[in-house]
Amino acid sequence: LLRLEGVTVRFGTRTALDAVDLTVGEHETVCVLGPSGSGKSTLLRVVAGLLRADAGRVLLAGADQARVPVHRRGVGLMFQDHQLFPQRDVAGNVAFGLRMRGVPRAERAARVADLLDLVGLPGAERRSVAALSGGEQQRVALARALAPNPRLLMLDEPLGQLDRGLRERLVTELRGLFHRLGTTVLAVTHDQAEAFALADRVVVMDEGRIAQAGTPLEVWQRPASEFVARFLGFDN
Ligand code: ATP
Ligand code: MG
Repeated sequence: LLRLEGVTVRFGTRTALDAVDLTVGEHETVCVLGPSGSGKSTLLRVVAGLLRADAGRVLLAGADQARVPVHRRGVGLMFQDHQLFPQRDVAGNVAFGLRMRGVPRAERAARVADLLDLVGLPGAERRSVAALSGGEQQRVALARALAPNPRLLMLDEPLGQLDRGLRERLVTELRGLFHRLGTTVLAVTHDQAEAFALADRVVVMDEGRIAQAGTPLEVWQRPASEFVARFLGFDN
């Protein structure tokens, strides 16, 4: 579904992504791991169309996305800092993308209710997002990203602000959900346990390059380099 060929992104003299090749298959969940500053968020932004690649190509379903604007890529993106609309209530946030796509009101309401159930916030439609906890806001952001049924769902630290217990529960639920919906997922996380629990494949990044890509088992059993081994904590 998604293919990156030699994608390079520079900010001034700094190379955030350095000739990255990556494919994500239909229905696959790929988790991107790596230290802070290794290019994880940049990777999602260039796929979403929020950043232009300085070199290389991004293809979705075989089509070069160079001239395709963000809203036509059919990707859902949930940011690290979730960026909800504080002046809208929960339903207004979740339904945002549906309204843009002209989904009728009644259908929107039903879909919003389903999504709120899914993320564990049933009946929260009329609550003000400004009055929600960080974890609740994160779940609203997840529901909003899922709402338009994107062909590729990209999550940047989706559970970053949640406590351990809730994270573990949500990871299990998400994995089930993605499998049921057949969603293709590209997710960034700092949390190895989360990546290994969620992913069909993990990608470990180091300074804008892919240090290793493989199934969680492969990466765990045969780290490709000292960097990967160290990153996985094998030195202690
Ligand atoms: P984190 O885990 O902290 O979120 P990350 O892996 O997501 O890190 P990126 O945000 O992709 O890292 O950043 C990769 C590199 O590109 C970093 O060195 C960062 O400083 C730089 N960078 C990212 N966005 C910009 C920008 N808009 N302008 C200049 N430099 C940027
Ligand atoms: Mg980031």
